[in-house]
Amino acid sequence: MHPVEQAETSTVAALVEQGHTQPEQIDAILLDEYLASGGYQTYQKCINGDIKVEQVLDMMDDSGLRGLGGAGFPVGRKWRIVRDQPSPRLMAVNIDEGEPGTFKDKYYLDRDPHCFLEGMLIAAWAVGIDEIYIYLRDEYAAIRVMLEQELIQLQQNPPVPNLPKLYLRRGAGAYICGEESAMIESIEGKRGMPRLRPPFVAQVGLFGRPTLEHNMESLYWVRDIVEKGPECLTKHGRNGRKGLRSFSVSGRVNKPGVHLAPAGISMRELIDEYCGGMQQGHEFYGYFPGGASGGILPASLGDVPLDFDTLHEYGCFIGSAAIVVFSDKDRARDLALNAMKFFEDESCGQCTPCRVGTSKAVNLMKNADWDQPLLEDLSEVMVDASICGLGQAAPNPLRSVIKYFPEELK
Ligand code: SF4
Repeated sequence: MHPVEQAETSTVAALVEQGHTQPEQIDAILLDEYLASGGYQTYQKCINGDIKVEQVLDMMDDSGLRGLGGAGFPVGRKWRIVRDQPSPRLMAVNIDEGEPGTFKDKYYLDRDPHCFLEGMLIAAWAVGIDEIYIYLRDEYAAIRVMLEQELIQLQQNPPVPNLPKLYLRRGAGAYICGEESAMIESIEGKRGMPRLRPPFVAQVGLFGRPTLEHNMESLYWVRDIVEKGPECLTKHGRNGRKGLRSFSVSGRVNKPGVHLAPAGISMRELIDEYCGGMQQGHEFYGYFPGGASGGILPASLGDVPLDFDTLHEYGCFIGSAAIVVFSDKDRARDLALNAMKFFEDESCGQCTPCRVGTSKAVNLMKNADWDQPLLEDLSEVMVDASICGLGQAAPNPLRSVIKYFPEELK
């Protein structure tokens, strides 16, 4: 029996019994419908030899596809690195989606899960992967029910012989388990705490084996790139950038939600063209460009192209493109404090600069008068000495407030 079948299959009733709220209904394209519309034919062409591995690797390079979980590492380069490692090689798919404000993976899984699964299987074929572990955020209870059933269906009706082994693992609500090495610890059944690197997970990852780690959305685009060519992404773009980005937009706009827009679009363009403008009575004041960890930018920087590599000079980053728009009815310092409280809660506690630093920062930021030199000093220590991205990025929002919203600190 296949591993997915061995696991206890969830039912909606069982989930409710376990204390989950009733999962919403999902209207996804399921296997029969996906196959009827030509699904898995691209994967079959790969397996049959009609499409060669080198062709696919080149297409990934040419498409400019990058890791969409936040790190933005070029996908083609990552595949080549892992492919060059000794077998057996494993894959870990990250659907923890814990960054505040991010919900794009859910959006795509709710609609077209097999597009992601086909991309995942193409990646596994191209890199020579034996086993795939999908790590799913447990709050996505309805998606879990659907995905378990679809994985069983897929294995009972495989589109090609000898699929890699597939495992679906549940997260347990820890933000840090979205960090790739902490996720791997969690999949291995241990407490999710980031590992020191090197060695990198591409060399020594899951169960000590070379591991291809990917965010779900990165894999979601693979099928289209192989089927339609890299230009399906590269023909899009704005302000000198190429590609598409799935922006999860929330906050004071008329149309929050996932908006697929050209890479390099500016915040003002995104609000006006995709989000229906600001809510009535609210004036655009600032935004988080990359969830809680990506810092905060003021409205005066609303024309900066939103993409990887463009925001660093402003002390921010786009990460998983979780945009939170706020208005003149909000205060950036309150939002920064809220973000720091979140990091204090979610710190895994492994290293002192993060464990103690987030706690000290919260206390300092609660004061009406911020001790700015002390907060800057603390931020520097956290950035320089924390083991992982949580502690390193936690000071971003507070530093943004000091830099861009000084009038709030008077
Ligand atoms: Fe844990 Fe924070 Fe250190 Fe990361 S930086 S290892 S989350 S204590």
